[in-house]
Amino acid sequence: MENKLLNKVIVYGGGVVGGLASLCLKKNGFEVCQIKSDVRRTIDRAYALSPGSVDWMRDMGLRDKLFNSLYPVENIEIIRQDSKTILSADSVFQPALAYMVSEKNLMKEIQIKLSSEDIKTFPEPKEINLDNSTDEVQIKLEKETLTASLFVVCDGANSKIKEHLDIRKKIKNFNQNAIVFNFETSKNMQKNAKQYFLGDSILALLPISPRTVSVVWSCDQDIFEKLNIANDSEFILKLKSIIGNDYSEISNLSSKSNFPLTMVLNDKFFDKRVVLMGNAAHSIHPLAGQGLNLGIRDIIDFEKCLKNNRYKDIGLTGFLRRFERSRRIDTFQFSKLTSGLHWAFSRNNKFINEALIKGIKLLETKDNFKNFLIKKAIS
Ligand SMILES: Cc1cc2nc3c(=O)[nH]c(=O)nc-3n(C[C@H](O)[C@H](O)[C@H](O)COP(=O)(O)OP(=O)(O)OC[C@H]3O[C@@H](n4cnc5c(N)ncnc54)[C@H](O)[C@@H]3O)c2cc1C
Repeated sequence: MENKLLNKVIVYGGGVVGGLASLCLKKNGFEVCQIKSDVRRTIDRAYALSPGSVDWMRDMGLRDKLFNSLYPVENIEIIRQDSKTILSADSVFQPALAYMVSEKNLMKEIQIKLSSEDIKTFPEPKEINLDNSTDEVQIKLEKETLTASLFVVCDGANSKIKEHLDIRKKIKNFNQNAIVFNFETSKNMQKNAKQYFLGDSILALLPISPRTVSVVWSCDQDIFEKLNIANDSEFILKLKSIIGNDYSEISNLSSKSNFPLTMVLNDKFFDKRVVLMGNAAHSIHPLAGQGLNLGIRDIIDFEKCLKNNRYKDIGLTGFLRRFERSRRIDTFQFSKLTSGLHWAFSRNNKFINEALIKGIKLLETKDNFKNFLIKKAIS
């Protein structure tokens, strides 16, 4: 490979993972071009970021304004019928289990940092014209052709680039839709979250301020269709039938957005000089709030590989295989854990239900195992 190409990297994708990957590569001395769509998302969403993701993001030079806006979650109550267990940050001597962030704020701060760096941006082409060889990787855009040693793909679960690669994907349809919305409550919920595992849905309530709750309600098709046509008072009535009076008065219900839920797993992380990160590499059920954290850990592990290996050419198979190995266990464990939990909690089977209730009661008495689960989720 020509020496001047060795330092060039193209990042494809303008989401959180694409933005952070561009910043990280730039920080590590690469010449970065980012290709992203011009379309801006209008809806805002809240993400639960793990403490590990937040610590690493501080090193990316994002402004304090972002970190000051994060809302910590200290406890999560897991509820199945009349059994419950509390996962608590205190039990592992941590200040929080997760930090809630608004996607809009996060994207805005990433964008500000990207604009202050010397990172060239290009609009996504209408058609993908990719030439991926063992020597270099090239993409034709509307006005120019970009060439690099490595092409980092972060264009999400429905990645267009992946269609042009020799990578096989397995798709599992959960037959669920997540309804995402916020509401305000008259009671101060402090820093406590709740997650209800119901037979036909999973309801997660996460505080984003003392009196504002962000909700992800993953629903089977039947209940989704009913909720989707319900007016606000019918919707609140259904919500209250589950959460009871825990949140006192509910007001200011926001508009709702829906996300069909699927799991996408690939047989590999890279093909020649193209590597996948974020949802393009793995997409999981949101019940553990780990999808974006997994994507951030892709970048963290890529950076570790950069620092621990003296590869001049990071598009070489040897380097990319090391990266792939570093990500296999984490992505496998979380995709199995989330799809397994989804499977178990959505069975309409008396014996499985009794086992789950016993399991939750047992968890309440086994601090070591509970703390192991907490440590895994906050990494
Ligand atoms: C209901 C739900 C709740 C979730 N909650 C959590 C959570 O609490 N914690 C967690 O870690 N993960 C959560 N996830 C997973 C998380 O949303 C994804 O893992 C994450 O968004 C993947 O980021 P990405 O950059 O790889 O892909 P995407 O965000 O899908 O980005 C891919 C492409 O989408 C476009 N795009 C993305 N963002 C923008 C934008 N702001 N403006 C314009 N274009 C954009 C760009 O074209 C980009 O190239 C949740 C997912 C769902 C469905």
